[in-house]
Amino acid sequence: MSHPPLTLLARRYLDIVEGLKTATANSAIRSHLFRLLKPELDRDESIRNKIAAARVPVSGNLDEFRAVLQEIDDKVKVGSTDKCGADDQPEQEALGPDWRPPPINPATGYRTLPSWVAQPYIRPTPVSTEVGGNEDFVSAAAATLDGSRPASPTPATNMSSPCVSTAPTACPSVAAMRCPTRACLTHCRQIRAVAQGMDPNDAAAKAASGELEGYGCEAHEEKFAAKRLKMQEKKKAQTEARRMKRVKNVEHKAAERAARVRKEERAARDGAKMEVDDEEAHFSMGM
Ligand SMILES: [Zn+2]
Ligand SMILES: [Zn+2]
Repeated sequence: MSHPPLTLLARRYLDIVEGLKTATANSAIRSHLFRLLKPELDRDESIRNKIAAARVPVSGNLDEFRAVLQEIDDKVKVGSTDKCGADDQPEQEALGPDWRPPPINPATGYRTLPSWVAQPYIRPTPVSTEVGGNEDFVSAAAATLDGSRPASPTPATNMSSPCVSTAPTACPSVAAMRCPTRACLTHCRQIRAVAQGMDPNDAAAKAASGELEGYGCEAHEEKFAAKRLKMQEKKKAQTEARRMKRVKNVEHKAAERAARVRKEERAARDGAKMEVDDEEAHFSMGM
């Protein structure tokens, strides 16, 4: 059988679940059935909802799941004109045992199969962002420290280029891919500050001490802000983790103390009881 009904595969899956020594989570069964029955579920949302609601009772039988499979079988046998209007759906009985899958459609390269037979899930082709979709722009001509304006943006090549700053020595950093200044963060800010009229020496000093925040290109400042946000979040998470650890410690100590008190109380009670038992023993022995 090259194209068995989906429900046949689903039943075999349920048989396996029933044969297992350990219990299978409802969520795991649902997840398998959602995948196995996808073509049918895409046509009839109500079946998806029924699987989502089905569960395994304490007794461990899978009747609720099997009932949904039976419903699919009944539906495809009588043919369906469901809400999706898929009345072109071929019935299982109408097709009969001699049914053979249709030939491959040369336009798509796939067979168009009825929704109730096992078939591959064909994902839509992803739209590539690699070819012709490059959003990165960098200036073609290098801007320089004397403040000459960067040239208008041209599409970037995917090659990394060194930072344009050469004064007093060549900057060892790589220019950011999306930076129109074609510089590293520090020099992007410095070059732009000078372009805005800041004294070059002043700009160099401030750039070195990290005082030119906000002067960089949009790409650089965005990246910088995102990075700082991430650092802050990390710090916050660490602080919270430390706080939780302290709370846990206090709780643990309190629990230990309570256990000790209970133990001491029990010991005291048992001691008292023992004395009573002794007295009773003496009493019954007539002493
Ligand atoms: Zn930049
Ligand atoms: Zn640089």
